[in-house]
Amino acid sequence: METLILPTDSSELAKEAVNQAIARLRNGEVVALPTETVYGLAADALNPEAVARIFATKERPLFDPLIVHIRRADALATVAAVPGEIEKEINRLTQEFWPGPLTLILPKQPVVPDLVTAGLPTVAVRVSAHPIFSRIVRGLERPIAAPSANRFGRISPTSASAVLEELNGRIPLIVDGGACSCGLESTILRVEPAPEGKGKPLFHILRPGPVTADQLKEFGKIVKPRPPRPAESPAPNPEAPGMLASHYAPATPLRLLHRPEDFLPAPGKRYALLSYRGDPKDGFVDRHDWEEIAILSPGAGKLPEAAVRFFFLLRQLDRLGIDEIIAEPVTEVGLGQAIMDRLRRASARKLDP
Ligand code: AMP
Ligand code: MG
Repeated sequence: METLILPTDSSELAKEAVNQAIARLRNGEVVALPTETVYGLAADALNPEAVARIFATKERPLFDPLIVHIRRADALATVAAVPGEIEKEINRLTQEFWPGPLTLILPKQPVVPDLVTAGLPTVAVRVSAHPIFSRIVRGLERPIAAPSANRFGRISPTSASAVLEELNGRIPLIVDGGACSCGLESTILRVEPAPEGKGKPLFHILRPGPVTADQLKEFGKIVKPRPPRPAESPAPNPEAPGMLASHYAPATPLRLLHRPEDFLPAPGKRYALLSYRGDPKDGFVDRHDWEEIAILSPGAGKLPEAAVRFFFLLRQLDRLGIDEIIAEPVTEVGLGQAIMDRLRRASARKLDP
């Protein structure tokens, strides 16, 4: 199959790309679409055959449920049944953060195929803020299931060229909407009613992302997440199916080091550094004659900039053919929590080496 990339640089081109994407989605095909988080591999969420194609294309295990994208908050009831006890909080959250990178876990409506939710009674829902994605989901007039447009376990794509690298020949169409403005996957939140109906509802952040715990805390009580499960532990985590300890991984081994002095290069091996600020004061830059130093936020150390560049740089380092990527930690506050989550998963030992 030939993979076509359609640009959206002018209003005519955008119209053409939007129309072609809608026609293919109606036809039960899968297409890659831009969102503000990462590129998504989209299919009609209510068509089980189309959804099955997402899993096949990504080689994604069927136990890993998909996020369903709706056109607007007022379409929520079509895919999810919001429990009365948390209706007020859900409304406040959707008003504040939708459209945007917040995914809510809610009881599903029967119309959502079990394949989408991996057999769970809940569904993950969000409204994308990307103008092109938004036009497509409105034009289709059906919800869209769209996980990240990469092969399973690999680095999420934040540009059309990164999607091509992942899925060339496997999908008919990539709509090029430019680089993703967040660069990290959405925050996933499960809201639990306040214990005995008193006080704030409990917020379980199942995946940290662009909407930070700091932003969420005025709406509910953040329940401290469990420490990430080691890759070798066989026990599934029912809170976050599919959130494997090893994920977002480059093919090159990646090691997250907290102290520069812990880096002891092996003779003859080639290393690259993924640095937060590229500042020798951080102690990693001067440690070694690196094959390459990729800097997440040159100079200033700004977390949003680091988030946007994260997967892009990881992909770039992965192409070097070196022995190992050494990653410096970033400040673990706000967006830094989401970046550190991805770095830990990228560095975790693989389940299936
Ligand atoms: P992706 O679309 O690749 O960003 O992955 C979506 C992630 O959302 C999955 O890996 C799950 O961890 C999470 N997810 C989707 N549906 C549910 C659900 N019903 N309950 C909990 N987590 C979910
Ligand atoms: Mg993914």
